[in-house]
Amino acid sequence: MESREPYVLASLKIKGSASIVPIAPGVTIGGSGPTIIAGPCSIESYEQICTTAQCVKKSGAHILRGGAYKPRTSPYSFQGTGREGLKWLKMAGEESGLPIITEILDQDDLSVVCDHADIVQVGARNCQNYAMLKKLGKIRKPVVLKRGMMMTVEELLLAAEYILSGGNRNVILCERGIRTFETGTRNTLDISAVPLLKQKTHLPVIVDPSHAAGNWKLIEPLSFAAIAAGADGLMIEVHPEPEKARCDGEQSLTPARFDRLMNRVKQMGNWRLCLTV
Ligand code: PEP
Ligand code: MN
Repeated sequence: MESREPYVLASLKIKGSASIVPIAPGVTIGGSGPTIIAGPCSIESYEQICTTAQCVKKSGAHILRGGAYKPRTSPYSFQGTGREGLKWLKMAGEESGLPIITEILDQDDLSVVCDHADIVQVGARNCQNYAMLKKLGKIRKPVVLKRGMMMTVEELLLAAEYILSGGNRNVILCERGIRTFETGTRNTLDISAVPLLKQKTHLPVIVDPSHAAGNWKLIEPLSFAAIAAGADGLMIEVHPEPEKARCDGEQSLTPARFDRLMNRVKQMGNWRLCLTV
């Protein structure tokens, strides 16, 4: 006999159909076509986030990303522009007409992040911060929950269950690569997690090839693989001048490279229909 799933609210078997998370008028994650989230790793200045917003919007992105509070390995590295950055991100979102997503790093910033962002992002490092997940269960904003680099698929679903059981039903899961013995890439994109999650949960599943690869040259093929595997969306780092980026420049696409990727992703649209039959 098949063993019982340890999660209930995240279960596809129990809910019976895939969820579509509403983000803003005309923008959803889940259901039809891949939703594309794009923008810099970190918000560096008003000009930088505005320029990026205009470029990614023109190429067809649906949501603008940008980190104001950055979880850095070294305390001496750039930590983000904080509240100032959130303000710039919000302005860039309003000017471009794109909804915005940003990471919550510290529970103390929850209300200011919710005041600015349309979607709250939980980073890989906080995916098992259960006190924070409980608080996110009480907010009204959708949450993108990024898989921790050492977490199993089941642990990810149970982390989502924390948010769902608190009352917030708008959770999107994000595969962003896990730690393996491979050193050729920053992390290893666990592509099998995508169809596996889609079989286990009704929650939308997106893929972040940027943090998985750590190298811009791998973003395009990994994006195609993610969509082919059934991902509901992509989160991609784009910077107007990657060589000058204060964080993750080596994995960031230029606006021109992002534009090329978007044209190819759009061409995959019809082919993707084969997946559903
Ligand atoms: C990010 O999206 O900028 C980020 C820090 O990602 P992750 O939490 O997946 O490392
Ligand atoms: Mn980054």
